[in-house]
Amino acid sequence: MDKNFDLIVIGSGPGGYVCAIRSAQLGLKTACVEERKTLGGTCLNVGCIPSKSLLNASEIYHKTQKEFSNLGIESSNVRLNLSKMMQNKNNSILNLTKGIEFLFKKNKITHLKGKGLISAHDTVKVIDNVGKKNNYKAKNIVIATGSIPTSLPGIKVDEKNIVSSTGALSFDEVPKKLAVIGGGYIGLELASVWKRLGSDVMVIEFLDYLVSGMDKDISIEFQKILSKQGIDIKLDSKVTNVSLVKNKAIVDFTGNKSLKRQRIEFDKVLVAVGRKSNIGEEIFKLGIKLDSKKKIQVNNKFETSIKNIFAIGDVINKGPMLAHKAEDEGIAVAEIIAGQAGHVNYDVMPAVIYTSPEVAMVGKTEEQLKKENIKYKVGKFPFLANSRAKVNNETEGFVKIIADEKSDKVLGAHMIGPHAGTMVAEMALAMEFGASSEDIARTCHAHPTHTEAIKEAALAVDKRSIHF
Ligand SMILES: Cc1cc2nc3c(=O)[nH]c(=O)nc-3n(C[C@H](O)[C@H](O)[C@H](O)COP(=O)(O)OP(=O)(O)OC[C@H]3O[C@@H](n4cnc5c(N)ncnc54)[C@H](O)[C@@H]3O)c2cc1C
Repeated sequence: MDKNFDLIVIGSGPGGYVCAIRSAQLGLKTACVEERKTLGGTCLNVGCIPSKSLLNASEIYHKTQKEFSNLGIESSNVRLNLSKMMQNKNNSILNLTKGIEFLFKKNKITHLKGKGLISAHDTVKVIDNVGKKNNYKAKNIVIATGSIPTSLPGIKVDEKNIVSSTGALSFDEVPKKLAVIGGGYIGLELASVWKRLGSDVMVIEFLDYLVSGMDKDISIEFQKILSKQGIDIKLDSKVTNVSLVKNKAIVDFTGNKSLKRQRIEFDKVLVAVGRKSNIGEEIFKLGIKLDSKKKIQVNNKFETSIKNIFAIGDVINKGPMLAHKAEDEGIAVAEIIAGQAGHVNYDVMPAVIYTSPEVAMVGKTEEQLKKENIKYKVGKFPFLANSRAKVNNETEGFVKIIADEKSDKVLGAHMIGPHAGTMVAEMALAMEFGASSEDIARTCHAHPTHTEAIKEAALAVDKRSIHF
């Protein structure tokens, strides 16, 4: 095999594999190194895809039990077969990771199996699973090694009783009592899965609101809805210790303000307090510059401090740790390496929480705008007044649009409600084109659809919503 490449990408997550495909499309001789058995990174193997499979299956299970009879659908003897649900999830992972193998072959990308280490500025050493080493030359290298879960000081994740998201995606029985440390999107999605499947779930969050960085209005509504679903949420609470006693996990936590101490026994504890960049030792040795959070520092062309070595995705110091951010950066960096003008717009980057109802956001929150001293107007519309949501009995939540006070340009959109994760795309597109709330309000939206709530929220910016 020819061991010289125009580009070697290290890591095949949504950043790495998309970068490799775009690079090959642009005519660059491309290889992608992956140490995992299957391609697709965190996202396909232990992240977005398995979590969404379980969210979908558990929601159907829950609806079958709790909502079908209201619709006149009588079902009896509904039982959970957890191992089949897990098998279904694993099949989805397999299908999708095989899909990337196919795309690599189709685009003539060399798939190098093993751990990739940058041994010189133009060389990647690949160590395969039996320890065999091979050196490959690259004119350009893209580091796309992603991220790994973090824990709290003194709390050791064993992936049995005390688990990271990876362990919580593969429990072999439904824990009777589950503690989720961290009220971010990963913790809340998995809390929803296991609550629906029958666990008693407690979420313990350090901050006094859920999902750091989320618009406060939405966060408050989200908390109300999750509490109504039976998830016990302890905000403003600091976990001080987790210990294992006879296969049970004992969690100690203290109220930040009340200073009230609690000790509760759980069957499983999910530590979902965030993720950190996955930086190999050689990155330190090479002297590639990191920021204070040990993320790789890149400039607006995704160049690291070493020429011809680039970095993208969760491993870098830009944007949120999300799969679509990594994908967009993968495309942009491939285009930049090929001499084109790749670009990522970090101001218009949607984020979705796939709970029921879904939560979605793009652009600035009210809190950010206040901090930045930007004057704005807000329009809100509740799903309670949306006819489609009403007939489907899914009336919780609302759409909120924030527009510049003078120019009316949309600065942010935040929503909690049915299909919010799909609907947010309309707002992202509108913002990408610099739309005003007036533009959205004057765009014809099909009736009866949930998207009419977007049009109505846009009308509400100017206090002229029709149905509320
Ligand atoms: C439970 C969970 C749910 C999530 N849900 C969502 C979601 O719904 N939507 C969303 O946008 N994001 C979601 N994310 C986040 C998303 O998975 C990440 O943002 C995304 O995967 C980052 O992509 P990446 O390409 O930067 O890195 P990764 O996907 O982490 O991929 C990096 C790859 O590099 C490989 N690698 C690392 N070092 C080496 C090396 N030295 N040699 C060879 N290979 C190496 C790793 O094995 C891995 O396969 C979720 C994450 C988790 C954990």
